[in-house]
Amino acid sequence: MTSTLVVGAGSAGCVLAARLSADPAHTVRVLEAGPVWASAVEMPAHLLDPGHLPVGPDSGVVWRYPGNIVRGKLIGGSGAINGSYFVRPTAADFAAWSAAADSARWSFDAVLPLLAELESDRDFGSAPGHGARGPIPVQRTADPAPVSREFADRCAALGFAEIADLNAVPASSTAGGDPGRPPDTGAGRPASLGADGFGRVPLAVAGGRRAGPALTHLYSALTRPNLDVTGGTTVTRLLLRGSRVIGAEWARGRERGTTFADRVIVCAGAIESAALLIRSGIGPESQLRSLGIPVVLPAPVGAWCTDHPEIGIEYRGPVPESTTVALEYVLELDDLELRPYTPMFTPGLRRLGVALMSPEATGELTLGSADPAVPARIDQGYLRSARDRDRLRAGIDVAAQVLGLPLGTVDDTWLRTYLGTSQHLSGTCRMGPVGDPRAVVDECGRVHGIEGLTVADLSVVPVPLHRGPQAAVVLLAALIADLYAV
Ligand SMILES: Cc1cc2nc3c(=O)[nH]c(=O)nc-3n(C[C@H](O)[C@H](O)[C@H](O)COP(=O)(O)OP(=O)(O)OC[C@H]3O[C@@H](n4cnc5c(N)ncnc54)[C@H](O)[C@@H]3O)c2cc1C
Repeated sequence: MTSTLVVGAGSAGCVLAARLSADPAHTVRVLEAGPVWASAVEMPAHLLDPGHLPVGPDSGVVWRYPGNIVRGKLIGGSGAINGSYFVRPTAADFAAWSAAADSARWSFDAVLPLLAELESDRDFGSAPGHGARGPIPVQRTADPAPVSREFADRCAALGFAEIADLNAVPASSTAGGDPGRPPDTGAGRPASLGADGFGRVPLAVAGGRRAGPALTHLYSALTRPNLDVTGGTTVTRLLLRGSRVIGAEWARGRERGTTFADRVIVCAGAIESAALLIRSGIGPESQLRSLGIPVVLPAPVGAWCTDHPEIGIEYRGPVPESTTVALEYVLELDDLELRPYTPMFTPGLRRLGVALMSPEATGELTLGSADPAVPARIDQGYLRSARDRDRLRAGIDVAAQVLGLPLGTVDDTWLRTYLGTSQHLSGTCRMGPVGDPRAVVDECGRVHGIEGLTVADLSVVPVPLHRGPQAAVVLLAALIADLYAV
């Protein structure tokens, strides 16, 4: 019997704990900082409504960080509060990931069977590279909201091609090109952009409910005698004996305790996983010393991270009668994604997001205190690169054409004013081979230099992904769980 302690029941933690505990030779103990309801039917209905992102000032289920960054703090993690967009990374993303990890394990051809196994695609389930029997229901909106339909019509009128399936397999998946791209008509598009096309967003929803990993994976496994999930419990520090992890210390209200295990898999998300490692003495040496944390292992935790900067263009528009999901269509242009949101985030104003999916500039996460209650600092590095600013300007140009709105001069001040985050941080515990000075974990998520310790969440992704990260993190957790099956 191997005992595994999983830190965090978020997107990755739910999938990983469910897959590991399917084997009775494992005992799996999960500690989650946020609430864990005993069954899915007990989850508050508003948390399951995919048209509502429960991240506002009154939300009791988020972690908050400077820079308007939020993360889910509940069973299901960020996957339980997100926009339900479930789009696979591109074949080129997997090629870059595989190269950075120095492992064919992460190539598109290697991961494709698992991507298909995980999904039940209601629209394309029988198409090559798709699945119709997996735990995650995927579908595209059949009856788009007026704002989405207008967006699609405008994209078509400008000559952009419509992509039927954003999750389609490319003709030659080893070629490293983007999947599902029909020949580009090119008509009416800015010559500089090499437009790709617009399409309906694959969504992880079913029966009008957000189908996050708690619902698709963890709740159905909770009756297993070898799986225990405890909520309201924050892991404050990993316990190490020499260079081996032996468990973790935790806090639950005023209670303090320790849990021992043969191995620990950290799934606390790109921010809290890195913070936990640093608090435990695994991190940049100078930072550890300045925080007064004994150095267990110098490692570049938090030294590299990436996200998708997003410019929010707001304009007057009619109040929607209702919204079923936040985003129904996107337009993809090389490394840009245009997102016509269906809800109004500011009363009376519609929003079109312009996101840069492959920024050149990278960011850094650091701790200002060893106290777990003090949030990590994240310097996203947004707009630091002239190339990134130019790419965003190019996207805003297209947005102006799609909206038929003159946006005036888009200088750097303008960009800074409307800049936001896509909430897609990754890479704080980067994957890479021994000898890679930026790498924290190996191709299987094992922390270099520490026995028994694995990180399995968005922290380990070593390259910017051209799509939102939810499909990637689910895949990653499933793949790592399978590697650790006894
Ligand atoms: C508002 C919002 C909308 C988004 N929309 C989309 C979208 O539509 N599509 C998309 O692709 N991506 C989206 N994302 C991003 C995506 O949801 C996340 O990147 C992804 O879910 C992260 O998965 P994870 O497992 O790495 O971390 P998380 O899902 O965040 O899980 C981390 C878990 O660990 C717990 N935890 C943290 N620290 C501790 C600790 N010390 N002890 C115990 N437990 C701990 C947390 O409470 C949480 O449950 C969105 C993100 C946000 C915040």
